[in-house]
This record gives sequence, structure tokens and C-alpha cells, in this order.
Amino acid sequence: MRIAIGGAGIAGLAAAAFLARAGHRVCVYDKAPQAAPVGSGLIVQPTGQAVLHALAVGHDLIARGARLDRLDGRTEDGRRILDVRYDALGSDIFGVAIHRAALFGILYKAAANAGAEIQQRRAVIGADLENRRFVFADGEKSEPCDLLIDALGLRTPFVERNNCGLSYGALWGNAPFPVSQGFSANALSQRYRDANVSAGLMPIGTMMEGEQTQAAFFWTLGAKHYDAWLMTPLHRWKDKVLKLWPEAAPALDHFIDHEQFVFATYAHHTAAAPVEGRLVHIGDSWHAASPQLGQGANMALLDAWALSKALERHEDVDAALAAFVETRRNHVKLYQAISWLFTPVYQSDSKILPALRDKLAEPLSRFWFMPKLLAAMVAGTLGRPLKELQ
Ligand SMILES: Cc1cc2nc3c(=O)[nH]c(=O)nc-3n(C[C@H](O)[C@H](O)[C@H](O)COP(=O)(O)OP(=O)(O)OC[C@H]3O[C@@H](n4cnc5c(N)ncnc54)[C@H](O)[C@@H]3O)c2cc1C
Repeated sequence: MRIAIGGAGIAGLAAAAFLARAGHRVCVYDKAPQAAPVGSGLIVQPTGQAVLHALAVGHDLIARGARLDRLDGRTEDGRRILDVRYDALGSDIFGVAIHRAALFGILYKAAANAGAEIQQRRAVIGADLENRRFVFADGEKSEPCDLLIDALGLRTPFVERNNCGLSYGALWGNAPFPVSQGFSANALSQRYRDANVSAGLMPIGTMMEGEQTQAAFFWTLGAKHYDAWLMTPLHRWKDKVLKLWPEAAPALDHFIDHEQFVFATYAHHTAAAPVEGRLVHIGDSWHAASPQLGQGANMALLDAWALSKALERHEDVDAALAAFVETRRNHVKLYQAISWLFTPVYQSDSKILPALRDKLAEPLSRFWFMPKLLAAMVAGTLGRPLKELQ
């Protein structure tokens, strides 16, 4: 088949790699002038790892990323209220935290090596659905094809989203990992005060061989406060961070300019219909959520794999698209619901939810089934999304 994919992000590149490998003629269109993502780090969960192994690039992920065994969240006074250990699911289960650009590089290479064509500076603004062509901002159109894949992310022009932006986002910056400061090189560490003040530090491996391990540092910030933050001298902001988390000082030393940070805003939304004729939405264009649970990239990878599997198993394209939705629908619904429930506990103006969190999370986590449940929730394996794929 001839397949056009809008968006060379995580979902688009993974889909391109799978589909080009299966022998389809694939062209990916992205608006960015150069193939390079902005941002910091993310966690490839066991679900996402399974997809990358299926693409035969799992070893590249392990080589570039940092193994995460634990998510460790504490209150300002050092009391642990979040303790997720992947080994509750088995000693060989872990997360891999990786620089977004490193994951992008791995997927880009996989797609290009499989024979997918990738065109930059192609901003998709719509589609001629009858002839299955993307329409670009300069008025040109892609070649007619058999299938259009919308992997354009949160701001896809194909899905109407109203008032789905979340009020809190986060500043993200990269710094050398502060090895000597008692931070575990295999844990995501976080500190919280209420639900509107929090910071985190996560090892994210290296961009190049021989480089010092990097860390992603993040700080919760209300979208309405971003402009004021830009006007605040950085040392004043650092003082605020240090009041919450004095141990973060060595990582903060690396930051001398506001420009070292990217401000990421989040949204929560699920498209009403993942398939419209021969246009299919995958990744954030289908289901966007706050990164609180660390699932978005993994859901995007699962979508890409499920779509390629469905097209492999069904000769009829419409039947394949229906099968793709069937495979992914329940997992998407489940994680969108969990994310919707948990986000206000960690990022909101609520006083009650974080107070309950700080009081109840630790005693609740002592129930015998909780370590496994929490680990499965974070690993992305609740609902068994790999059941029909492996
Ligand atoms: C700060 C932050 C931290 C996160 N942390 C995690 C984490 O730890 N774990 C996790 O799993 N997920 C995480 N996520 C979520 C994850 O990054 C997304 O869910 C994932 O990137 C979605 O992949 P995607 O391919 O659907 O979209 P994207 O990766 O956003 O890719 C979309 C692509 O489409 C292109 N594009 C957009 N519009 C157009 C257009 N009109 N025309 C042409 N091209 C266009 C963009 O340039 C981009 O290349 C995080 C997100 C953020 C913002």
C-alpha cells in the first residue's frame, strides 16, 4: 500500500518503521524544519520497550537510556509517599529513562533504514479525504494513497479539542546527573508540596557514547505563571526550589539562563473516533494526557505496533482499521481514566487531594496487592495491552 503519515514524532516514526519494513510505500511529513525534537526526558515503560524490541532497536534504547528501578516521591520533610518498584512485577522488569532526542534518533534511523521517506517543512493543515491526500500549508498536497495516518500529536488539525488544556505544566531542563549527591542513578526522585509545587530529577542516559550521564530536571508551573517566571531572576527561582529540595542544588547549579528550560503544557483529551474512513489517528492525536503517569510515548508506540499488526493480519484495510481500534480501545480508555483521576492529585490547586495523598498514600501502599498494582499501572501493563501483539 501507499501510506502517508503526518508527524515524525514517536507514533509517526514507529509506524513508519513497522509499515515500511512490512513492504508498504511510506512517506512521513513533518512541519519541523529539521528532524530534531525539543524537550527533555521520558520513560520508556516495559510496554514501549516491547515495541522497540519488535522493531529490533531495543538494544539501542538500553545503550542510550538509563535503567529505572524505582519511582521515589517524597514530601518536603522527606516522608516517602510514592514508592513504585518495577521489580514487584519481576526482577527483569524496569523502566528506561531516555533523552527525547535520543529516542527520536533511534526511531528516525529505524524508519529511514526500513525505507520510509521523511519530508521536513511539510505543515499539514487538512486532508482531501476522498483522494486520501494531506493538504499542506503551502497549498500543495501529498500523493494520493491508500491510508492516511494522523500522528500529528496533541495539536493535530484533524481533532477538535475545546478547553482540554490543563492548568499546570512543567519547566524541563537537562543537567549532568549529580552522581555524588546521594541521588540514585536508577530512580526518578520527586519532591512535593501540596499539588502545585513539585520538582523531579530523573537520569536520562547519554546522547553520545562516552558522555556523562544526563538528568532531566522538572518543576511544576501553572501555565498562567510562565510569563512571570520568565521575568523573575533565575537565582530567585532557584531559592524557591532549594527551599523545597535542598539536595537539588548541584543540578540547579548547571542552570544559568531561562533559555535552558522548555515549558511544556499538557492537555487531556480523547478523540471521539480514532478512525474516519481511511484516516486513522494514533498517539497523542487520538489520546492526549498529562505525563504524570509516564504513558504517552508508550501508548504512541503501542498504537503504531497495533496498527501495523492489524494491517498485516487483515487484507481489507477497513477491517484492519476496525481491528486496530478493537485492540487498543480498552487500554486507551483505562489509562485515560487513570490519568484523569490522578493528575489533580499531583498537579492542581486542590488542597484537599494532596492532603489526603500525603496522609493515605503510604499506609495504603502497605496492602499486599499494592506494590504489584502500582508497578503494573506505571509499567503500562494494566489491561494487558501486549496480549494480542506479541
Ligand atoms: C514534558 C513532557 C514529558 C513527558 N514525559 C513522558 C514520559 O515520561 N513517558 C511517556 O510515555 N510520555 C511522556 N510524555 C508524553 C509523550 O511525549 C507524548 O505522549 C508522545 O510524544 C506522543 O507521541 P506522538 O507521536 O503522538 O506526538 P509527538 O511526539 O508530539 O509528535 C508529533 C509530531 O508531529 C509534528 N507536527 C505537529 N503538527 C504538525 C503539522 N500540522 N504538520 C506537520 N507536522 C506536525 C511535530 O513536529 C511532531 O514531530 C511527556 C510529554 C511531555 C510534554
